Amino acid sequence: MSQSNCLFCKITNKEIPAEIIYEDDNFLCFKDINPKANVHLLVIPKQHIENLNDLNPNDKKHHEIMSNALMLLPKIAKEQGLDDGFRTVLNTGPGGGQEVYHIHFHLLGGGNLHKL
Ligand code: 5GP
Ligand code: ZN
Repeated sequence: MSQSNCLFCKITNKEIPAEIIYEDDNFLCFKDINPKANVHLLVIPKQHIENLNDLNPNDKKHHEIMSNALMLLPKIAKEQGLDDGFRTVLNTGPGGGQEVYHIHFHLLGGGNLHKL
């Protein structure tokens, strides 16, 4: 389940510190160490999945994780006071600029957001 060489698994296991702002049985949300907007959070499933290419359409848990993650994002955004909206980014693979190979949703907002 958790991979010993994965940075975000280590954050999940509290082996590496992070500014955690939300946690439940299946998800963790913490502040990005190098924020690209006034609010820049990362939402990750605790289960190690590399990226979208690693999803198995026959795995019910994968379906559950992805749909629950999407529904968790607005809840966290509201809790963070992002009442006027937010941006969600999910990078996949080198071509998508992915640096950490544990799937994560970037949640950005609160101003100083660069136009895509
Ligand atoms: P990616 O490019 O893989 O989509 O995004 C990885 C994100 O993780 C980057 O925005 C980067 O700033 C963030 N990051 C990298 N290392 C750490 C870390 O040790 N702690 C935290 N909180 N964020 C990190
Ligand atoms: Zn991991």
